[in-house]
Amino acid sequence: MSALLEVRDLRVQVSAEAGPLDAVRGLSFTLARGETLGLVGESGCGKSLTALALMGLLPEGASASGQLRLAGQDVLAMPEHERCAWRGRRMAMIFQEPMTALNPLHPVGRQVAEPLRLHLGLSRAAAEAEVLRLLERVGLPDVRRCAQAYPHELSGGQRQRVLIAMALACGPELLIADEPTTALDVSVQGQILDLLADLVAERGMGLILISHDLGVIAENVRRLIVMYGGIAVESGPTAAVFARMGHPYTQGLFAARPRLGGPRRHLPTIPGSVPALSAMPAGCPFAPRCALATLGCGLGMPPLHALEDAHAVRCLHLEQALARAEQQP
Ligand code: SF4
Repeated sequence: MSALLEVRDLRVQVSAEAGPLDAVRGLSFTLARGETLGLVGESGCGKSLTALALMGLLPEGASASGQLRLAGQDVLAMPEHERCAWRGRRMAMIFQEPMTALNPLHPVGRQVAEPLRLHLGLSRAAAEAEVLRLLERVGLPDVRRCAQAYPHELSGGQRQRVLIAMALACGPELLIADEPTTALDVSVQGQILDLLADLVAERGMGLILISHDLGVIAENVRRLIVMYGGIAVESGPTAAVFARMGHPYTQGLFAARPRLGGPRRHLPTIPGSVPALSAMPAGCPFAPRCALATLGCGLGMPPLHALEDAHAVRCLHLEQALARAEQQP
C-alpha cells in the first residue's frame, strides 16, 4: 500500500484572551491507500480539530502548523483557492450531525449535485443522473423521491447516507468520518459503518474514522490512535493495542464500554473530566485523572515507549500500567 497521507508534527492553536492555546500538540501519523485509521478519545481531546486541520476548515481564531502531505503535496502550504479545489474532490468529510451539515432550504439531490457540477464540471442532466446513482449506492430507497426531499423529510439514517453520497461524489482519495454514527440508533449505526467499510474496500480510499467509542473503533479500523490532551497517548495496529493496552487512559475507556451478557454491574468510569486547554497540566495531561500518577508524571511529557508490532505508549509507568491491565476482567 502506498502512502496517501503523511502528517508530521501537526500542531493546532486556538486563540484565547490570554494568548494562543495548544489544542493539538505534535501529532504524527501516516495513512496508506485503502487503509483505515481510528482517532479515539473523549470530546476535547483534539480529534475533531485534527480532522478540521486536515480539511482546512478550522474555525476562525484557530491555526495549524506542521506538515500535512496528501498524495505527496503539502496541503498546509497550498494557497486557499488550490486547497478549496482539493476539498470535496480529493479529500472529503462526513460530519457528525447530518441535520446541521445539510442545508435545510434545498432538496438533498441538489446538494449532492453541487460538488459534481463545481469540481467535475458535469452538466445539470449528467449531475442529476449521477446523484441517483450515488443515492442508490449508499442504499437509499426510492432515490428519485429522496433526491427531491428536503433534509427534514428524511430520517436520521437517510440523511447520513445523503452526506456519505455527497462526500463520495467526486471520488475522494481520503475520507474523514467524524463521529458519523453518534446521532443515530444503534441498528442504523451498524448499517452506516458497514457501508463505509464496503466503500473503502471498493474504492481504495484512505479512511480516518473519529469516535469516542472504543467499541466502534475496534470493529472498524486496522490501526488506531488514542488521543488525550491534544497528544497521541497510545497508537498501533488495532489488534495489538487491544491485546495489550498500555496507557491508563485507553484502559479506562475500554473498561467503561458497555457489554452484553455477563453479570449486571455498574459501568466503571474515568474520574474527573478532560482539562480545559487553559488548564492543561505541564507534564502528562492525564495525570489529574490517573490512578498511577506520581509527582514525576507532572514534571514533563512522559517518554514514548515502543512495544511490539509498531504499538507505542506514552506513559512514565508503563510496566505498572501493563501489569494492572492484566488484572482487569
Ligand atoms: Fe498516568 Fe503518569 Fe502514565 Fe500519565 S505518565 S498515564 S499520569 S502513570
